[in-house]
Amino acid sequence: MEGCPVDGCDTMAAMASYDPSDDQLSRWIARHKRVFVLTGAGCSTASGIPDYRDEKGEWKRRPPVMIQAFRTQDAVYRRYWARAYAGWPRFITAQPNAAHQALAAWEAAGKLFHLVTQNVDGLHQRAGSRSVTDLHGRLDTVVCLSCGNRASRAELQDTIAAANQGWQADAAVAPDGDADVEASVIASFEPPRCQLCGGQLKPDVVFFGENVPPDRYARAREALAASDALLVAGSSLMVYSGLRFVRAAHESRLPIAIVNRGRTRGDDLAELKIEADVSNALTEAVATTAPAGAAAPPQV
Ligand SMILES: [Zn+2]
Repeated sequence: MEGCPVDGCDTMAAMASYDPSDDQLSRWIARHKRVFVLTGAGCSTASGIPDYRDEKGEWKRRPPVMIQAFRTQDAVYRRYWARAYAGWPRFITAQPNAAHQALAAWEAAGKLFHLVTQNVDGLHQRAGSRSVTDLHGRLDTVVCLSCGNRASRAELQDTIAAANQGWQADAAVAPDGDADVEASVIASFEPPRCQLCGGQLKPDVVFFGENVPPDRYARAREALAASDALLVAGSSLMVYSGLRFVRAAHESRLPIAIVNRGRTRGDDLAELKIEADVSNALTEAVATTAPAGAAAPPQV
């Protein structure tokens, strides 16, 4: 967001952040009745959860853990959990931001038919969205890779703490509940194991190198087929699991709009591309699109 050059000038800062292309978005929204929304990391950055990629879609930092390395290399498993343990307090206290609130309000007003998110933070649901597919899973649940037992991530945090008394890391927060922790500190960390069978534990999220579960994808595709437009909000679409919704929408001749700061792999398929901060653009568009007075009941 562009701030006002005058210190302490909030009004001017707000005006300066207004993007005239927002009006295009509100008019685009007004033309559709059952919008399918795909959200990505850009929706959660304003909640303090960083993005992996820069405005060119390139990695900002070391790429995330691949599933094969996680399963087969003890050092990778240990490092993953040390960083996840250190990053959890910041991750779990993140609050929904204006983008989440705008999309929830839009659903309540009967405009948004279904929301698919690539984020694993649950912030859409906490903002009040109900028709949501967590495409890449949720970080608040863990699953055993051996016996399949599922457990609460919050409770696991206590278990990890009990097994690592005195272990402490000065961690900088990173994407997806991850955190930067020095290698020498990681070496003394005791990673968690399944309490039932001793197997490896993994957060119930789709790691890089894994596929979205087919039934989950199929349900999301059904929702897309029942929609009349696709809006991408805050995703560079560098991951195929998101891009394929855009391609499917294009093949079905659904109108596509994209709101993202930076280029995306779907730009060529969109009839409208808004280069803007997602929170600003959606808040403005939903405010000018929502019917006056009480919100309409949601469509089923
Ligand atoms: Zn197990």
